[in-house]
Amino acid sequence: MKKIIESYLQENHDMLIQLIKELCNIPAPSHKEEKRAEFCKKWLEEQGAEGVFIDEALNVIYPYECGEERPVVIFMAHMDTVFPDLEPMGIKEEDGKLFSPGVGDDTANVAILLMMGRFLAANRPKSTCGIVICANSCEEGLGNLKGSKALVKRYKERLLQVVSFDGYTNEICNCAVGSMRYRIEIKTKGGHSYFDFGNENAIVSLAELAERLYEYQVPEDGSKTTYNVGMIQGGTSVNSIAQQAEMLYEIRSDNRASMQQVQAYFEKMIEEYRQSGVQVAVEVVGERPCGNKGEDNIDQKKLEQLCKKIIESRSGRETGFTSASTDCNIPFSYGIPAVTIGLCLGGSAHTKQEWIFIDSLRPGFAIAADLILNYCEQ
Ligand SMILES: [Zn+2]
Repeated sequence: MKKIIESYLQENHDMLIQLIKELCNIPAPSHKEEKRAEFCKKWLEEQGAEGVFIDEALNVIYPYECGEERPVVIFMAHMDTVFPDLEPMGIKEEDGKLFSPGVGDDTANVAILLMMGRFLAANRPKSTCGIVICANSCEEGLGNLKGSKALVKRYKERLLQVVSFDGYTNEICNCAVGSMRYRIEIKTKGGHSYFDFGNENAIVSLAELAERLYEYQVPEDGSKTTYNVGMIQGGTSVNSIAQQAEMLYEIRSDNRASMQQVQAYFEKMIEEYRQSGVQVAVEVVGERPCGNKGEDNIDQKKLEQLCKKIIESRSGRETGFTSASTDCNIPFSYGIPAVTIGLCLGGSAHTKQEWIFIDSLRPGFAIAADLILNYCEQ
C-alpha cells in the first residue's frame, strides 16, 4: 500500500489543484451548501465510491467499510465559507499561489479529503475500523457547527476519534474555544427628537450597556477568555428618538469555568438593566461547547502525537498545539478524542483576498494520506 499511495500522491497533484478550482467556483455559504454538497457526492460516486449520501444537515458522507457495528474514525472538512455570495467569486493562480475566497478555509482541505475518498474507493485497502469521509456543512459563524453535531450524533456510540482538516498546517488544534453568542434588543417608547426630547433612547441605552460590558476584566487564570460586540443597529431616522436597537455580543474561552464567569457578569448586567425599567430581550444565537484543556485522556494524547509525528516528517517543520473554535468542539464536548489540522499554508482567511501556497499542498496531501492509511492494513 505504501508504494501505491506514494505514486498516487505524485500522479494526482494536478488533479487535486483542478478539483480545488472547481470547488472554489461553487458558492457555499453556511446553511446554503446544497450545490457544493451535490457536486461532492456526484464526484465521489464518479470515482467509484459506494454508499455516499447527503444527510439532513447537508453533510456529504462516504462511509468506508463501516458495517453496522464496526467502530469508526471520522475524517471531515467543511464545505461552507464565511461569504454570503451566491455567485462564483472566482479563482486565480499567480506566483505559485492560488487566490480565492475560502480557498484555504476550507476548500483545499475538502479537495484533499475527496481525493483520499477516491483513493479508498479505487484501491480498497483493508481497514482496521470503519472510516467515515465527510465533507460537512455549517462550520462557520452562525452555522453553529450544525454539520459536526449531526455527524457526531450519527456515529456517537461507536466513534473512536475525529480528525477535522481545516485551515493551515501551522499548528494542531487540540482544545476547543467555546463561544456564546447573543442578540440583545432594547425597546423604548421613543418619540420626536424635538417635541419628545428627554424620552429614553434605545440606541443610547444599548450603547451604555455595551460600555458596561466592556468594563469587565477577563479572568487571568491561564485561560484565554474574550468578548466582543460585533454588530449594532437600530433607530428609525435622524429626527426620531430610537424606539429599537440591537447588537450581537459574543463571549469566547478555552476554559469552561472562565467562560461561566463572563456569562455571569453579562447576566448580572442584563438583570440590572431590567430592574431599572429598560425593556431588554436576550436571544442566544450561537452556542459552541468549550473545554478539553488540561483534561487527561490517553487516546487523545496518542492521536495528538500521531498527528505531530506525521506533520513533522512530511512537512519538515516542527509543529505545536493550539486552541480554536472548530468542528472538533463537538467531539471534545463528548470526551471523544479529536484534533483539527490544516493541510495547506496560506493567509488572509475570512477575507476575499485569501490565498494558499500551491506547493504546500504536496505535504498536506501526504499528511492526510498517512493519517487515513494509519487505519488500514499496510
Ligand atoms: Zn474553517
